[in-house]
Amino acid sequence: MLAQRTVKDIVVWKGIGLHSGRQVTMRILPLPPHSGIRFVRTDLPGSPEVPALADYVVNTRLATTLGKAQAVISTVEHLMCAFFGLGIDNARVELDAAEVPISDGSSMEFYRALQEIGVEYQAASRKVWQLQKRVELKMGEKWGIAEPSSLLDISASVEFDHSAIGYQSFRYLHGQTRFEEFGSARTFGFLKEVEALKKMGLARGGSLDNAVVLDDSGVLNPGGLRYENEFARHKVLDALGDFALAGHPIQARIQLHRSGHDLHRALLGEILAASVLVELEPRSVAQRTPLRRVRAAAI
Ligand SMILES: [Zn+2]
Repeated sequence: MLAQRTVKDIVVWKGIGLHSGRQVTMRILPLPPHSGIRFVRTDLPGSPEVPALADYVVNTRLATTLGKAQAVISTVEHLMCAFFGLGIDNARVELDAAEVPISDGSSMEFYRALQEIGVEYQAASRKVWQLQKRVELKMGEKWGIAEPSSLLDISASVEFDHSAIGYQSFRYLHGQTRFEEFGSARTFGFLKEVEALKKMGLARGGSLDNAVVLDDSGVLNPGGLRYENEFARHKVLDALGDFALAGHPIQARIQLHRSGHDLHRALLGEILAASVLVELEPRSVAQRTPLRRVRAAAI
């Protein structure tokens, strides 16, 4: 668990973009240790690169969008969650469009494709962010709290005055919660919002194939929900994907209520400002010696 990881070989993925509704080709390639996840827009002159780090988040409306100069990449969170699930630290993600394909609105198909190609352990140890003090954030009805912990523990609750949602919650505990318990939970939206977005030229690729869609009385998808509390499970999925933009795993206990990508981004900023980056050294860990402090700064 201490070694950095990359993909064993190239993964090629074709799918539609949620907003453009157009076909997108994505290629995921191995990278050396300490590279991180790097998105590359191969359709733009010079193939600009955008690191998958919180500092490059330029928009959190509807999805998490990264950007640097002219290059933007939207809807990175579900793919980032799949990387998190497999512990992949280093990879190059080439895209010929401005968004990651939406797949089925969850992380599971990305996770399976990466799992199939395999994960390679690298000759470099991982660093982790260790939170040093409690931080909290409130944004209207949304709030998040993070406290120091020896492992990542995220609870998310959602609350909507709708018969299919109501109040529901889900908890992810690192090392105990399997990816299958939340990885196929889909993004969701209300029919009237989806229609409004389409009028604005957004969500053109949105359909019952890649989201749970609700009208005033219930779920429109013929197959219904994948889990009774699919909405809360998807919040945890989104949070894990957004927090993967820390660049290194986080050790903290996090509670989220009615959160969205904006709250995740803001809370992550607070968490990183209150954390130290420590290197987990295999030898010293085996000897149960204290962790060596590497750097105390936000990325
Ligand atoms: Zn999502």
